[in-house]
Parts: sequence; structure tokens; C-alpha cells
Amino acid sequence: MSVAPHVLEVKDLVVDYYAGKTRTRAVNGVDLQLGRGEFLGLVGESGCGKSTLCFAIARLLGDNAQISEGDVLFAGQNLVYLREKQLRHLRWRGYSVVMQSAMNALNPVMTVGAQLTDAMKAHTKISKRDARQRGQAVMQLVGIDPIHLESYPHQLSGGMRQRAMIAMALVFIPDLIIMDEPTSALDVVAQRSLMIQIKELQRELGFAVIFVTHDMSLVARFSDRLAIMYAGEIVELGETRQVFTDPQHPYSRGLLSAFPSIHGEREELKGIPGSPPDLRNPPSGCRFHPRCPSVMKICSTAEPPAYSPRGTDLVRCYLYADQEAEHIQLRSVP
Ligand code: SF4
Repeated sequence: MSVAPHVLEVKDLVVDYYAGKTRTRAVNGVDLQLGRGEFLGLVGESGCGKSTLCFAIARLLGDNAQISEGDVLFAGQNLVYLREKQLRHLRWRGYSVVMQSAMNALNPVMTVGAQLTDAMKAHTKISKRDARQRGQAVMQLVGIDPIHLESYPHQLSGGMRQRAMIAMALVFIPDLIIMDEPTSALDVVAQRSLMIQIKELQRELGFAVIFVTHDMSLVARFSDRLAIMYAGEIVELGETRQVFTDPQHPYSRGLLSAFPSIHGEREELKGIPGSPPDLRNPPSGCRFHPRCPSVMKICSTAEPPAYSPRGTDLVRCYLYADQEAEHIQLRSVP
């Protein structure tokens, strides 16, 4: 039997929101592959489509949004075409999602233990006793005393609530966990300790992670690869170290120059002039062209394809058109 090399493959994914007759294309032609046990950081400014992409992958979009094109291949199936009943079978066991705000995601009138048991019973046949034992085990995994299975969400600190959410996501040890800004409501100390724990669990249990954040410092340390999104598109994808040390896309450079480094000389932080486009009416050609310091004539006329200059998986920018041609030529020399 052949083993799929990737846990997840997203191909040319397009997601639209509808408000009356107005269409907003929030995700535009995203391609992404995730290896088993890989930790992928997904970063970009607010409103760039990070969360929409994740909800589309998990098939958790609201009624006002739809996947208009593309494929999401997971565990040998295309999630785009699965019915709710089939998805229910995959959720939690195959993949799970940790939401941004645990206070909103957890039911305030049920104990954490009751919520864990409910989730387990909804997705598999399990006795009350076994569910209880499993609940205790996953609480211990995330560093919470199982005594808190009896606690209500408001009785836990912000960090403990997020850990409880991660415990729920881990209840069947899925192959993939999608985390949508799981640490954004925490102070920096709780944030760091939660990240260390996520990374340890990931190494121990072998699941892959898509980690959404706008905090570059978090992904700098913890992710294997980094995807940078701008206006609904992944504009750069590569190994985290490579993207941080030698960003290729002008937007990635701008984003990183707005982020302070704790090493080396003190440098003045630069922002990116202008603001992200209105996705109801995005700019023609490259969506970054009105803000790009390297803009060329071609940039406003046609969307740049994905190039893979040396050292990166993908860069959507015409600056690399010639380099890629050179690279392909070099590769074809016998
Ligand atoms: Fe800038 Fe053109 Fe590259 Fe877009 S394609 S990032 S406008 S140089």
C-alpha cells in the first residue's frame, strides 16, 4: 500500500464571502502541502485571509462563505466534496481545530469534563468510564490537574482554558491540528509556556500543526516552515529560518522590517506604507503592487505566478521570473 507523502494538500483553493450580491474573495488560489509532523506557521496582517483559509480547510466556514474552487486532500479524501456526516467522522479523529478565544469556544455552563465527554461520544462509541479516563489522560498531557475536569471555564485562567481547548483537540490524537491564534489572548509568559508545551506534544505525538498568528516572534522559534499571506494569497513559503534571514517577497521584507530583532545592532523599525486592499475590489495584477517599493510595469497588469527561486518553496513576485528561468536551466544541464 502506498503511503501519502503529505498529511494535507491544498490545491488552488478559492473562498468567497457573500453579503447580498457583493462577493469578497478572501482566499485566492492557495496551494499548500503539509508534511507529517510538520509545524507550519501562517502569518500576515489582520484580514489577509489566514483564518478563512483554515476554516475552509477544516470545512467550518459559515453560511455566508463558500469554497468556490480547489481541493483539500486529507487522508486520501477531498474534504471539499464530503458531506457533513462524513466530515464528522474525520473531525477530531483525523484533524481538529483550536479556536482563537477559548472563552467563546468552550460552553460556559458545562464543566470541562462534560464537554470532553460530549465531544468523545459525538465522534466515537465510548463508555462513560473510558471517556473519563481519556479525559484525565489528555488533561495531564497538557499540564492541567485532572481535578479541573470538574471546573467550569470561568474557574480557569486564560492559559488553562487554552490548554483545555488543546486537550480537547488531542483527545483522539489526530494527524493534524489547526490552531487559529491560540495564544493571542494570553500574556507573554503564558504564551511562551503554552508554545513550548504545544511543541513538546507535537514532537511526542507526531501530529502536524498549522499555526495561525500575526506574531512573528512566535513562529520564528517554533515553526519548521513559514507561509506569508497577503490579501488572500500566500506570497511566500519556505523554511522559517530561510524566510527570516533572507525574505524574498517585498511584502515579507516589509513585514519583517516592522518586527524588532533581539540580536545584532539596533535598527529603526519600518512599516509598510499604505494599507491592505479592499478584497471586494482588489487591485489588478499583483495585489501588493500599490504598496510595493519594487513595483514594475508588468505588476499591475497580470497576477504573478508562483516562482521557486533557490532556497524557497514559493514566491509570488515578478522579481524572480528571470532567476527561476536560470534555475530551471541549471537544473536541466546534464
Ligand atoms: Fe512588487 Fe511586482 Fe513583486 Fe508584486 S510582483 S511584489 S508589485 S515586484
